[in-house]
This record gives sequence, C-alpha cells and structure tokens, in this order.
Amino acid sequence: MATKYVYFFGNGDADGDESMRAELGGKGANLAQMAKKPLSLPVPPGFTITTDVCQEFYKLGRKYPAGLAAEVDKYLAKLEKAMGKKLGDEKDPLLVSVRSGAAISMPGMMDTILNLGLNDKSVIGLAKKTGNERFAWDAYRRFIQMYGDVAMGVDHDKFEAIIDKEKAKRGIKDDPELNVEELKNIVANYKKMYKKEKGEDFPQDPKKQMWGAIGAVFGSWMNPRAITYRKLNNIKEGALKGTAVSVMAMVFGNKGNTSGTGVCFSRDPSTGKNEFMGEYLMNAQGEDVVAGIRTPQKLSQLKKENPKVYDQLCKIRDRLEKHYHDMQDMEFTVEEGKLYMLQCRNGKRTGAAAVKMAVDMVAEGLITKEQALLRVEPEQLNQLLLPQLDKDAVKKAVEIASGLNASPGAGCGQIVFTADEAEEWAKAGKKVLLVRKETSPDDIAGMAVAQGILTSTGGRTSHAAVVARGMGTPCVCGCADVTFKDANTIVVKGKAYKKGDFLTIDGATGKVYEGQVAVKPATISGDLEKFLKWADEIRAASIRTTPSKQTVKGFDVYANGDTPKNAEDAFRFGAKGIGLCRTEHMFFDEPKLTAFQKMIVSENTEDRKANLKKILPLQQKDFYEIIKAMKGYPVTIRLLDPPLNEFIQAESKEQLNALATKLGMKPAALATKVAALDEHNPMLGHRGCRLAITYPEIYEMQVEAIARATAKLDKEGIKHKVQIMIPNVVSYREVEQIRAQAEAVIADVNKACGTKLKFEIGSMVEFPRTALIADKVAQFADFFSFGTNDLSQTTFGFSRDDYGKFIESYLDQRILEDDPFATLDPDGPGALMEIAEAKGRKVKANLHLGICGEHGGDPASIALCYKLGLNYVSCSPFRVPLARLAGAQAVIKAGIKKAPAKKPAAKKAATAKKPATAAKKPAAKK
Ligand code: PEP
Ligand code: MG
Repeated sequence: MATKYVYFFGNGDADGDESMRAELGGKGANLAQMAKKPLSLPVPPGFTITTDVCQEFYKLGRKYPAGLAAEVDKYLAKLEKAMGKKLGDEKDPLLVSVRSGAAISMPGMMDTILNLGLNDKSVIGLAKKTGNERFAWDAYRRFIQMYGDVAMGVDHDKFEAIIDKEKAKRGIKDDPELNVEELKNIVANYKKMYKKEKGEDFPQDPKKQMWGAIGAVFGSWMNPRAITYRKLNNIKEGALKGTAVSVMAMVFGNKGNTSGTGVCFSRDPSTGKNEFMGEYLMNAQGEDVVAGIRTPQKLSQLKKENPKVYDQLCKIRDRLEKHYHDMQDMEFTVEEGKLYMLQCRNGKRTGAAAVKMAVDMVAEGLITKEQALLRVEPEQLNQLLLPQLDKDAVKKAVEIASGLNASPGAGCGQIVFTADEAEEWAKAGKKVLLVRKETSPDDIAGMAVAQGILTSTGGRTSHAAVVARGMGTPCVCGCADVTFKDANTIVVKGKAYKKGDFLTIDGATGKVYEGQVAVKPATISGDLEKFLKWADEIRAASIRTTPSKQTVKGFDVYANGDTPKNAEDAFRFGAKGIGLCRTEHMFFDEPKLTAFQKMIVSENTEDRKANLKKILPLQQKDFYEIIKAMKGYPVTIRLLDPPLNEFIQAESKEQLNALATKLGMKPAALATKVAALDEHNPMLGHRGCRLAITYPEIYEMQVEAIARATAKLDKEGIKHKVQIMIPNVVSYREVEQIRAQAEAVIADVNKACGTKLKFEIGSMVEFPRTALIADKVAQFADFFSFGTNDLSQTTFGFSRDDYGKFIESYLDQRILEDDPFATLDPDGPGALMEIAEAKGRKVKANLHLGICGEHGGDPASIALCYKLGLNYVSCSPFRVPLARLAGAQAVIKAGIKKAPAKKPAAKKAATAKKPATAAKKPAAKK
C-alpha cells in the first residue's frame, strides 16, 4: 500500500490521533484527538500533511514525494465538502490557515500563514457574504503581509512601514482603528510593494497560494531560528523527521466585537498554581496575542464580558487536563460568539511550576509519583536554585516600574537593546539585561545569554514570556512604564536609562529596580523537597544487574566539594557524600598558597619536609571542617593531583621578581626552578600519584592531615567516614606502594592520638590502561572513582584545554553527536568503564564504584552510569538536585523497558518526553 501522507480531522472524527505525534506533529496529533470522540471538541476541520513528507522534501532536494499532490487534492475536496465552500471561491470563499507543528513543540520557531484563499475577487465575495467589509479587507491585508513575509521572504518592516504611513495620515494609533478605505489603500500599496520586491504580481490562484504556504512551512524547518531553537534545546538534528503541515478551515476572531482570540493555560505556567489563566484580544487574530504587539486582556475579563464562552472554555480545560493528565496550553478563537479550539499541547512551564504541578497532580490522583518524576526535566531544577532578590536589599532598592511577572528569578545586568548587542556584550564577559518593546523568534540567541528580559508590551503568553520560561531566564513583560526614546535610551517615569546602565528585575513579582540589587541563594523546601524525596526513594530502592551480571542496589548522589562552604551547600542540596575533594583547590588562597609554593621550590627533601610541616595544620583544619559538615556521610579526599608548575607561574620578569621576593629567594634561583618545572604537556606530565612516586613526603603529609583531622572529630564524638583517593593511577604498583606508605602514616597517627582509625583507600580510573588492568588495581583498592574528564581526554586524545577550537565544527558537521566533555561517550570512555566494572568486581564483588568527572552532573551520562552499575555519581553541589532527579529517571526508565510503569487507578497518563530547556554547558576546565 502506498504511504499515507495526509490525515483528515473534523466533523466529529479524525484519521489520526494523539499517538501519532511523530507523524502528525504535536499540533496535528492533538487536533485529531480533540476532533474525535470522546473529546469531540469544536475544532475547525482540516488535514495534516505528515512529517514524513518533510523528511522526503529534504531528501529529494526540496521536492515533494510522488502522490502527495493527488492526496492533498483529495483531502482539500473533503474539506471543501465539510465546509460547503470552495477554497478562494469568488462568492463565498473557504479560507484556510497553514500551520507548522513538529513532534516536539517549538513555539514560534516555524511559520504559520492565516487567511489563505483571499484574492482580489474573493475579498469582495467575503465582504458581501459576511456583510462585514472591514473584516474582509483586514483579513486580506493580513494575508498579503503574512504570505509575503513568511512564504516569499519580503521584509516584514516594508509592510509595517506601509501601515504606519496609512495610520499617520489620520493620526490613529491602533490597527483596529483603520477603516475600510484605509485598509483598501494598504492592500493596494502592499501589492505594489510586493511586485517591486518579487518582480511578479501577488499570487491570485488559491491553490498556488496553498502550495506556496505548504512549501514555506516545510522550508521553515531549516530556517536559522528553528535550527538555533533545536540547538539551544538540545534537540539533535535527525532526532525528528521534521515538521508536519496542518491546513485548517479559518475561523475569525477579527469579525468585530463579538469575536476574539486567545491563549490559555489550564494551570499557571509561571507558578504552577491550579488556576485557569490566559489572555485574549477582542477583534483580533492569533498573531496579535503572541507577537506582543497589543497587550491583551486577562481571561478573568472574558468571564465578565462573555460568561457563556468563558464557561464553555472552563469545561474544555477540565476535559483536556483529565484526558492528557498534564497542563494544557490552548489556543482558541471566538467567531461571533461561537468558540473554536485551534490547538492544545502540554504547556511549557517554569521549573517551579513543573515541580508544583507534578506534586499537585499526584495528590489529585491524576498521575503516579513515577510519572511525576518523569514530568520535570532535570535541567529545569536549576531554575529553582536561581538566586532570589535579597529581601533586605529590596527594602533599600529603588523600584522604578512594574510589569507582568512572566518568568521567575532575579535578573540583574547592563541594559542592551538588541539581541545582537546581548550576544556581543555577553561574549565580552558582561552581564546583560535585554530590554525590548517585544521579542521575536529572531532574538532567541540574545535571549539565551541575557540575565533577564524586560519588555514594554506583550502579556504572559507573549513570545518573550514563553521563551524566557522555557529557558529559565527571569522575565518581566508588558511593562508599560518603559518607553523607548532612541536606539540607546529608555525613559521610565521621566528618568532616562542608557545602554550599559544597570537594572534589576524580579521575575517573580514583576518589579523593576534601578541599579544592581543583591541576590541570595535559594533553598530546598516545600514541593521541591517532597519531589526530590520521591526521587531519593526511587533510587534507594533500585536493584539492577550490571552487564557483568553483578547485582547492585541503590544509586546515590554525592557532590564534588573542596571547601567547607562547598560541603555545606552539598549537604543542603541533598548530597549523600563528597565524591571528590580536590585538595589542590585548598592551596588557592593565602597563607596556604605561599607555604605550598615554598614546598614546591624546596632545594632538597629536608627542606621540602620542613615546608610541608607548615602546611599540615592548615590542611588539617580544612579537612576537619569538610568532614564535620557532611555529618557522617562519606568524604572522599583525593591526594594532590595537578602538576606543580600550576602553582609557580612567572611569565614576566616583574612576576618572577615579585614571586621571588614573596618566597624569600633570589630571582635567578627561582628562574632555574621555574625552568625545571616547565613541561610541554603538563596534563600528561608530572602530576597525580607520579608526584608521590618521586616525592612520597607530599602524600604522607596529606594523609597525616586527614588522619589527624579525623582523629580530632573522633575524639569529639562527631561522626565521620573518610576515604582517601589516589589520582592518575596507571599501574597497580602505584596503588600498592602509596597505600603502604599511607597505612604507615595512619598507624603513626593512631598511636600518637590513641585512636583506631581505618580509612578506605581507593583508586581513580582516569586512563584507558587503568580500566584495562582494573582487576589488578582492585587487589589494592577499596573503591574506584571514574575520573571521566581525564578518561575522555585520553580516550579521545582531545586536550581538555584546547578542544574548544574545533568541537563546534565537530558538532555542526555531526562528526560527533555530543561534546564528549559534557556527555559521557558510551562507545569510548563508557566502554572502558564497563570493562573496569567487570574486571574490578570480579576481584571484589562489592567494589564500590562512582564517577567524579563533570559528567556526574549530566542527565544522559547519569543514565549511562546507572546502566553500568555505578553506586553513585558525584557532581558540583549546585547540580546535586538535578542529579537526584536524573538518577531517579534513569531508574524509572530502566524499569519501564522491562515492565510497563504503574498507572494511576483509573486513567492512563501521558508522559511524553519534553525537550531539555537549556543548551548544555561544556565541562569546566581545570
Ligand atoms: C577527572 O579527570 O575526571 C577528575 C575528576 O579529575 P580532574 O578533573 O581534577 O583531573
Ligand atoms: Mg583527573
């Protein structure tokens, strides 16, 4: 049978349904579902051309597959029959909208064309038929503008200039004030301009118009803003087949004062509250609401003005939520008092709203805990940890305006007025606040780098609000007090603010403050605490069999932390241990730095030992505080790792002299030392445990500091569980030797302090060789921690410090699908980890395994670690909540593969995967 490319919906039935997102796109699938039983909602009829056509379109060099034209003709005829009108008929034209829609919603990223089928003749027929000349000419001018701009690439501003000129003639402000004659003038001028731009008349044949629009929607799949959107949302090229195209009978919100159009959410997408909210405009078409050109009315106003429609909308809201088991974002149009549903989809939401809705829906019996945990994208949790404005600082701050609280969080930065400026300034390391009248999809890259977004028009469903929420960027919109004086200045209540001045916005309250207002870190409490506890329970109860057939229970989250402050943050965010304490980071501040530098430049062993003695109490104090902060959870302390020359930097003569004075040396002597320490490839040089093979006294001092700190805690009756970790291991003999030296030191401390301390001593697995000899290493190691930064570096042969020069090209050309320092590569380092797990646990069945490279905070890498049988992942403290959730999701998804997830008592639930909300950051460098 030939492939079916076109699916009909309407008149109480549909060919497809919600299960066909991949083929019909989210919009097409939901239109079909809404149209048919049991929902049977008032959806204007239409048909959807599948995403398979989009895929073919690009394969065939922007041509359609054979058979498509005939199928479209067939369904157009069916649509005409359903409507009792012919497309573009001179007397009573059927008009259609042509809309895009991929399987994952990409709001505003692709193109839509309305009022298609109008031409010089049918506009007169429409005017007569509706008895509304103004409406007909308004619809025609909108169509020429949209078609010209979207399908034919005529500059949008050229249309706007014509409207502005016409409005200026009579000094009117808003589009609805334009009268019939003025609209006719605009249409005539649009057509003239179109001909000049395109060298041909505006197309009058409705079928030609329709194919032009279909081509434009398919073409928009590869437009720069759609590509940027996919990149920012981590939707891989090739992961989706493309966009579908829905051709749908038009209903009109611009037919006068009993008509209107709006967007609504079944719950508040900003806070998650179970409150119906939305916005609408009377006498308007869809794009007027979304584009933020006019500031719309609240839905509560519709309740007053048109209670019947409002009531109907409320009922639809309830039915859709119960059907989809998720918050719905709906578009509707009221045509002369009659309500139509144009779209529904799972609504985008802030991280806070996502958590609140998930928790509430479990309480309401709509979804299970597992489904709730799958609802929230791990990256979204970062928004809940966004700093908030400090309450005391707010009391003293100067509030200058307020707008709509469109996306929460505190955003403080220097004012910029264009997305390009935002990008440029951000690249130069500045924090920017993007201030615009409204935003459009072309601004997406600038919005992504801004600390916050402030717009003077547009509502909570405007482009700025929707995109900011998706990105987790604070946003205040519709702030009417902000007026634009010139390209570099805004005026707020009479006071001018120039480009580069600081402003602060509070996206939670909608308030705007002058200058920089102090911010405070967030805490985990309320719904988030409850939600993450569910995640912890799921991970704790998990049991899986590893590829090497070992059974592993539980999946913990630890944090990487080097200071007492890090340890406190880690504990606050729910880490169950410290998986990596990089002891070298303790030497970054004084007086430790000078003491450490003196140790490095020591002339001989005696001298080095004397300097190490001075460092010992300083390190001991830090260890004491970190271990104490973790209240008995494991603290994994890694012995010194980086090359020593990192601490002795003297590039210029002045630097050399200054350092020599500080260290009490002659510059010439220091210069000799610097030269001796110099290496071509320090990351592959004299670092890690190689330092201890040449200078055992360094690790001996560190072990003594660890043991003494623990002994002190022990005596104070404070809980402790300390592990010592050896970095950069390539031979089991290194572990054997260093372990013996460490145990001798620990025995001495026990003797001196009267304690009986024992420490687990483990090995990092950071190089291919270590993984390949893991069985030998395991004989001397109590645990392994995978250092996947170095493991990725050495498996790929990509320098961690230099790969930035070429990685973008690798990703753009799809030579690699992921940045290997951000997402663990299963075929390279992942395969080596699998070998290490099998070999290590063959020697010690319960060998404890963890990861402490940056990948420990990346959801896809966490899922791989779960699969490989690691006992824990360790990541930076601020990513701990994300990792707690991502780990639970890995557990649930692995279970779903084996057996279907539990369903809530009565209903089935939708747990479609949503795209990530933010682009991944590259791994932090050393
Ligand atoms: C690693 O290599 O993954 C690791 C944690 O060590 P570092 O980043 O300090 O080299
Ligand atoms: Mg390393």
